[in-house]
Amino acid sequence: MIRRILVLTLLLLLITAPPARAASPDPWRWPLDDHAIGERFDPPATDYGRGHRGVDLAGTAGDVVRAVAAGQVVFAGQVGGVGVVTIDHGGERSTYQPVRPRAKVGDAVRPGQVIGVLLGSPSHCSGACLHLGRLAGDDYLDPLDLLGGGRYRLISPDGKPPPPPAGVGGALRRPVGGPITSPFGMRIHPVTGVRKLHDGTDFGVPCGTPVHAAAGGSVVGRSSRGAYGKRVVIRHRPGFETTYNHLSAQSVSVGERVRPGQVIGRSGTTGLSTGCHLHFMVLKGGRSVNPQGFL
Ligand SMILES: [Zn+2]
Ligand SMILES: [Zn+2]
Repeated sequence: MIRRILVLTLLLLLITAPPARAASPDPWRWPLDDHAIGERFDPPATDYGRGHRGVDLAGTAGDVVRAVAAGQVVFAGQVGGVGVVTIDHGGERSTYQPVRPRAKVGDAVRPGQVIGVLLGSPSHCSGACLHLGRLAGDDYLDPLDLLGGGRYRLISPDGKPPPPPAGVGGALRRPVGGPITSPFGMRIHPVTGVRKLHDGTDFGVPCGTPVHAAAGGSVVGRSSRGAYGKRVVIRHRPGFETTYNHLSAQSVSVGERVRPGQVIGRSGTTGLSTGCHLHFMVLKGGRSVNPQGFL
């Protein structure tokens, strides 16, 4: 009996555990209040080659350093005399140095939560800088891809990030009926206990329920693989999209114009899903925001 429970628990873990490498990780927020970029990412040709395995962000010693995304602290201490904090975001990790850690291993952190204080030395910049790294397994990736660094700099190197595009706030219609079974926000996984952002709103509906476009727009995405399963992405205006996930069927194609309320597919449980439901997302500037702010 106990054996059976153990096997079942393991199976559940396998079914519900997040994928090792998410198809598209959530965007990062800036770890320093300053958005000045020093040396950029320059991946080495070999594992031991020269290169720059991260991006340097100019700062001042004593600046607070913030988590770029939600996750769990997996290292906070010294590596070769340099203070380092590492956060696991469920598939990818972010690293920060040189910092005096203000978080402990095992801490769950929110995006923007202070995890350390920037140190002036040792530094490989002329002034104080934060070396921010991004890792997927053993691979180094460019942190700026998630920070949207280039975009902000082009608009104004020193100013505030551009205002989010004017949304269709309050103008989205519910894509399906049915109760909200899981809202947008941080949640603790019922099986793994891991704290993770739930990046959409779940509506509990039977598989095969018609799914309606939340507003008019054009279909810019239709995919079938990865954690979101069969998925449709509709752009309502530049920088403002809705996505419909875990579908059993898609009835629109990329490039197609859709009217508000048009049926774009059927609900299902494809991808990383444990039962029939619609996982509905709203993306503003590529970042998932709470759909309930628009319904
Ligand atoms: Zn560096
Ligand atoms: Zn969901």
